[in-house]
Amino acid sequence: MTTHNAALPLRIVHLYPEQMNIYGDTGNVLTMVRRAQWHGYDPEVVVHRPGVAFPEDVDLIVGGGGQDSGQGLVADDLLALGDHIHGLADDGVAMLMVCGLYQLFGNFFETVTGERLDGIGIFDVATYGGPKRLVGNVRANTQFGEVFGYENHSGLTMLGEGQRPFGEIAMGSGNNGRDRTEGAIYNNVYGTYLHGSVLPKNPRFADALIEAAAVRRYGAFAPAQIDDQLAERARSRARQLGV
Ligand code: GLN
Repeated sequence: MTTHNAALPLRIVHLYPEQMNIYGDTGNVLTMVRRAQWHGYDPEVVVHRPGVAFPEDVDLIVGGGGQDSGQGLVADDLLALGDHIHGLADDGVAMLMVCGLYQLFGNFFETVTGERLDGIGIFDVATYGGPKRLVGNVRANTQFGEVFGYENHSGLTMLGEGQRPFGEIAMGSGNNGRDRTEGAIYNNVYGTYLHGSVLPKNPRFADALIEAAAVRRYGAFAPAQIDDQLAERARSRARQLGV
């Protein structure tokens, strides 16, 4: 691997790892770190927990899924950060929010028991707890080609008019199992239902996030050639299995 971007720091913020990390979502942070290193950057992971000051000089923000109860534990802290995160999103900071945090980056999540958790409205989406869980493998067509992942959620997410989805469902349920949309995009902020974790199997998507962060901070991105044979094997195995 080349190291032509050596010593260029990238600061990755991992949101609420104790409360919001199911189905391997921490793998997204590990993938960001390793691929950023392979591209020659010097990534640093800073954890953000409820009640403490939000880190400065943020390049990338990553958050995972969680139980409804986990979402309840972080919702107030996230609301308090809402204006700040809106500013970062408008300024082009790259973010990946999976499932439970995707829902809280929308307008609200109304749980199946009728409890309403307000979100920060980065995405114009609304989520309602549904009567059954949407579980299984997912393939979605996105601007980064086919993206493979795994979903497990009861929330049904509806996109507001004009809200751009992350992808179109080819297999699985995605946002709501009805309109074939998956996830949402605002600027360089991506929301998705895909666990797995999603980034190791989808290197183009992972690199797009790193590229957005690098271009915003340094004005350019010079990717290294990365051997993605393992990811390709996982993707073709998924296709063989009918995903
Ligand atoms: N609790 C939410 C739901 O079931 C989120 C689940 C998740 O993050 N996997 O819709």
